[in-house]
Amino acid sequence: MEKKQDNAKKKVGLTTKIFIALLAGAVAGIVIHYVVPAGFVRDTVLVNGIFYVLGNGFIRLMQMLVVPLVLCSLICGSMAIGDTKTLGKVGVKTMVFYLCTTALAVCLALAVASVINPGIGMSMKDIDASSVTQAAPVSLVDTLLNIIPKNIFHSLANGDMLPIIVFALIVGVLLAKMGNRASVVANFFSQCNDLMMEMTMVVMKLAPIGVFCLIAKTFAGIGLDAFLPMLKYMFSVILALAIQCFVVYQLLLFFFTRLNPFRFIKKFFPVMAFAFSTSTSNATIPMSIDTLHKKVGVSKQISSFTIPLGATINMDGTSIMQGVAVIFIAQAYGISLSPAAIATVVATATIASIGTAGVPSVGLVTLTMVLNSVGLPTEGIALIMGIDRILDMLRTAVNITGDAVCTTIVSKQQNAFDQKVFDAD
Ligand code: ASP
Repeated sequence: MEKKQDNAKKKVGLTTKIFIALLAGAVAGIVIHYVVPAGFVRDTVLVNGIFYVLGNGFIRLMQMLVVPLVLCSLICGSMAIGDTKTLGKVGVKTMVFYLCTTALAVCLALAVASVINPGIGMSMKDIDASSVTQAAPVSLVDTLLNIIPKNIFHSLANGDMLPIIVFALIVGVLLAKMGNRASVVANFFSQCNDLMMEMTMVVMKLAPIGVFCLIAKTFAGIGLDAFLPMLKYMFSVILALAIQCFVVYQLLLFFFTRLNPFRFIKKFFPVMAFAFSTSTSNATIPMSIDTLHKKVGVSKQISSFTIPLGATINMDGTSIMQGVAVIFIAQAYGISLSPAAIATVVATATIASIGTAGVPSVGLVTLTMVLNSVGLPTEGIALIMGIDRILDMLRTAVNITGDAVCTTIVSKQQNAFDQKVFDAD
């Protein structure tokens, strides 16, 4: 009898719990928005009190893990791979995959938006241009130079992923080369890595509570009326995101690895739900590495490199939003885009994706870069700002799925993949 109860308990896995938390959070948020009257209890105690503290507390716990985890696991990963040739191969493959899928995502977004015409018939009144944040232009040369850390402690303290990646790769390769001479340091990092993975597991147990609170807070705050005039725009973004996530990625996954895409999505779902509720690719890194390792069968040697890199430079979901937004704003202002302008959008949105940090709402800021490149008014961003929160959630889930699909493909090609783990339920 007790055993039976035990089994029943075990069956509710983390995936199911997170899924229930997502739905329950959305329902609770909508009910609170429409049923509970505005005032101290709703706004101060519930939304900005309990939901805010528990939801953001959970995000902070995840963020706390990112820098030490990326540093230790990347050092261990590159140490295990050892030779620079293999690392270079993995690096080149990953970069090519990331850039191509981003360019493809922008093209897809432009095509979907050109069919749906989300901006035709938009009223241009009520635009509050003052609220639009402009992206500070950083030259390409500086962007490249900034990859090399001047002071690694500064980069670690600021959570600058690219310099951390460069430093960790060099340390790992050299530790492998030094062998016994540096065994104490190598062991230190490998034990720190175990510790960080252990910590990730503990924090992940809290995911259902965190997800529930974050979603409930969002839905309690936004109400459905703001969406109505923007339905066509939202539909275009969501459709393009869905095609990218469930068709393009899954075809690529199947084509390159012959793995079952449905099984992949099922296993990766908790990470997507986490990214959806937090809107931050960066905070998703620990959960992504852990899930890909334990459930999908991807070696950490590969994922510890490709996942943080992807969370920093590969934002397919963001570039989809930017592609649709360009067409939407152009149509709303009655400006037609030449084929050359379209090509410019593909190029700049791909570059903007590299420059977009994996934190909430940054995609809107880098959108100014894309609009400027083809002379569209950046004031147009004010139109889409109000409803961007919900799209940010969706695009972040797509952003991290792109990283995971690429990681799985590269890991399979490098023979760093455990098929038994993928096949297990
Ligand atoms: N929130 C997104 C991410 O973290 C970035 C963005 O599009 O604003 O991936």
